[in-house]
Amino acid sequence: MPIYSPLRLRLGSANAYLVPAQTDYVLIDTGDPGLTFLLFRALQRHQISPREIRLIILTHIHYDHIGGLWQVQAASGAPVMVHEIEAADLAAGRVVIPAGTYPITKRLSRAGQWIAQFCRFPGYQAEYIVSGEAQSLADFGLNGQILHTPGHSPGSTSIILDNGDAFVGDLCPNTWYNRRLLHSHFPPYADDIAGVYQSWMRLLDSSARRLYPGHGPSYGIEELRGDRVLREDKRAGE
Ligand SMILES: [Zn+2]
Ligand SMILES: [Zn+2]
Repeated sequence: MPIYSPLRLRLGSANAYLVPAQTDYVLIDTGDPGLTFLLFRALQRHQISPREIRLIILTHIHYDHIGGLWQVQAASGAPVMVHEIEAADLAAGRVVIPAGTYPITKRLSRAGQWIAQFCRFPGYQAEYIVSGEAQSLADFGLNGQILHTPGHSPGSTSIILDNGDAFVGDLCPNTWYNRRLLHSHFPPYADDIAGVYQSWMRLLDSSARRLYPGHGPSYGIEELRGDRVLREDKRAGE
């Protein structure tokens, strides 16, 4: 049962996406640690062999997006792509926790950062290092590009396909607390708040139509264009 549209894999709190390429698949992110069996189970359900994954792209290197990296890489043999700014931390296996953007997440972030200093991943030397603003993915059978969209983390990227599907990592999540409490797709964690706005603008100016976030279900880009924080920001500038 091959897939023709992006398959959302819910691996703990975070999503990974299996994206059909020309002849095989590209995997975007690898979910929370310890839940890779869910990914393998989903592949099995769709009768897809891990060997059909030809590339693993990491939108950024937070633990909830790289947790399954080592297992998936070993099973698939696929090379890994990451932005140059985060390649060294990935290679060193550093556990990186972003700053909070709301009072409660600021506290949680500080606690997480304290714990993180005692934790380590095995480390992974990525085969493909993304540099510059945008890079084509045509060599991997995907009609689209990978864009540098920092803010949530310095080396965050978004994968924008020509058909309008955009995989945005944690740039504009869509969790229940985004919808019910924050009434905004603004990330509860981000290292550079101004950078998030700039990357949102970059996304809004791109060919992105449907956003596939690292947390929560996909949504249309118009929802981001009408986001509460963008409207408030606009009003503040008037
Ligand atoms: Zn993140
Ligand atoms: Zn995340």
